[in-house]
Amino acid sequence: MIEMEDVYKKYPNGVVAANGIDVRIKQGEFVYVVGPSGAGKSTFIKMMYREEKPTRGTIMINGVNLAKLKENKVPHLRRNLGVVFQDFKLLPTLTVYENVAFALEVIEEQPKQIKKRVMETLDLVNLKHKVRMLPSELSGGEQQRVSIARSIVNSPKVMIADEPTGNLDPETSWEIMKIFEEINTRGTTIVMATHNKEIVNTIRHRVIAIENGQIIRDEQRGDYGYES
Ligand code: ADP
Ligand code: ADP
Repeated sequence: MIEMEDVYKKYPNGVVAANGIDVRIKQGEFVYVVGPSGAGKSTFIKMMYREEKPTRGTIMINGVNLAKLKENKVPHLRRNLGVVFQDFKLLPTLTVYENVAFALEVIEEQPKQIKKRVMETLDLVNLKHKVRMLPSELSGGEQQRVSIARSIVNSPKVMIADEPTGNLDPETSWEIMKIFEEINTRGTTIVMATHNKEIVNTIRHRVIAIENGQIIRDEQRGDYGYES
């Protein structure tokens, strides 16, 4: 369902961040993307939600070739993909509720439906009691839970996460992983770039290691494989 074929990415400054990537990720898989800084993990992830376009190659997600996708079709793609970032990227002037509802309002769901879906999703991330708060009034872990709720409120088939625990303490990181596990158990594919060795070595899933823009290792239930 996610398929990259001979993907090559050269940035305008000449840096080659993907150099012949071939990969297939099936519906429902949980995949960690690991590797040293500068290896090309973010680029790999960004190409999956069309934040970056490959210079050549094909990237198919649910039958759509992202490399050829017209600009005006990108919002539609994003609706079927949840994206979670290290720095949360919440809208600072909107409440928790509004941040999560936003994604449904743009697709013009009925208000009653929106409320039901937003509250169910906030319940899943354990934040129902904070609906009226602003992001600045929340801890980092809570902000990340809001951003997870926002990313899954549309029930996407795929969730992409770039270092989602990068700004969180270890205990909060485990809480976030518990939510990811729950989302994955419900059938959502998760692709997560991470430097968190403890998590990768404890909650075992497929591990794809990238170095110099190439996949150098791809193992089911693999380990992190680096010192830190
Ligand atoms: P990682 O996520 O593994 O740290 P990145 O995908 O961010 O790796 O970066 C891979 C390489 O591409 C690095 O050399 C980085 O400096 C370069 N790079 C990333 N983004 C850009 C950009 N927008 N323009 C130019 N070079 C970039
Ligand atoms: P619970 O609340 O059900 O006890 P936790 O939130 O403690 O679950 O942990 C969720 C998962 O992460 C469990 O599988 C647990 O074993 C694992 N885990 C939690 N904290 C750590 C840790 N510090 N080191 C290793 N594994 C941990």
